[in-house]
Amino acid sequence: MNRLQNKEKYVVGVDLGGTKMAVALFDGQGALVNRDRMETAGVKTAAELTQHLVQMINQVAQGRPLSGIGLASAGAVNSREGIVLHGTNLPEWENVPLKKWMEESLGTEVQVVNDANAAAWGEYVRGAGKGSENMVYVTLSTGIGAGIVLDGKLLLGSHSFAGELGHTILDPDGPLCRCGNRGCWETVSSGTAIRDSALRLLEHTPSAIADIAAAAGEAVSAKHIFEARKRSDPVAIQVLDQAIYFMALGLVNVIHSFNPDRIVVGGGVSKAGDLLFPALRAETQRLVMEPYRRTFEIVPAGLKDDAGLVGAAALFHTCDGR
Ligand SMILES: [Zn+2]
Repeated sequence: MNRLQNKEKYVVGVDLGGTKMAVALFDGQGALVNRDRMETAGVKTAAELTQHLVQMINQVAQGRPLSGIGLASAGAVNSREGIVLHGTNLPEWENVPLKKWMEESLGTEVQVVNDANAAAWGEYVRGAGKGSENMVYVTLSTGIGAGIVLDGKLLLGSHSFAGELGHTILDPDGPLCRCGNRGCWETVSSGTAIRDSALRLLEHTPSAIADIAAAAGEAVSAKHIFEARKRSDPVAIQVLDQAIYFMALGLVNVIHSFNPDRIVVGGGVSKAGDLLFPALRAETQRLVMEPYRRTFEIVPAGLKDDAGLVGAAALFHTCDGR
């Protein structure tokens, strides 16, 4: 397929999450043309979910010629063969040959990647990573996901499991992680980690956090703890100082490993904006080895919730250049 033909064709991006799936049609220049989404709660099997997905893609494409379908999936993915090894969507979602099934139904090439890797690629091609050469994307949400772009290529590794930075261990005596180890990065810096360490302190320390959450009619989350930090709440200060210290430690490991020129930080916790970024930048500069100082920037993600969708589609846009 030459460059001109590709520009005349369209690309579909799919984001297959834990509770919903989103489909979007992009033109050859990467502009979003059409989109749709559905909740997947009522779907029972992987085959049924694939049928829904094929229908959605056909509806969104409306007969336009496709040069490919990029699919970002939650869970462990074998990108080379397009198999979702362990999805988070369905209990029996094991070793699903999604690429094969979808290519048979749609007659178009399908690429499957892990959702954090797709989001990293989306940020690199069309978001806050644009113009960088070596970029690391970190998403701070309920867990920590990441993707690494080195010399303009998404790093997949031998089994396409590269970039699982949320499970790099920062504190061997730290909290138990869902992976079975202790003190993984996501157990000390994710939104869940921030909430849990505040809840532990709230049991015996006065704080405005519970009031802020109650006034919003919500359960306590990282958002309320950042809000309390603005009011110099002592629990919020203690919890966030510790979480940001560990965030910076995690980034320092990343910087020493990959020497990126840009680190893009997304996910719900990144919405704290100015309550997070200046402190995170200062702490990272403090902890990083001297030759690395001021060799990188730490910036907020640009694509927000669409990063996976855009990045999956952009797997087919690389020939258009950036
Ligand atoms: Zn872990």
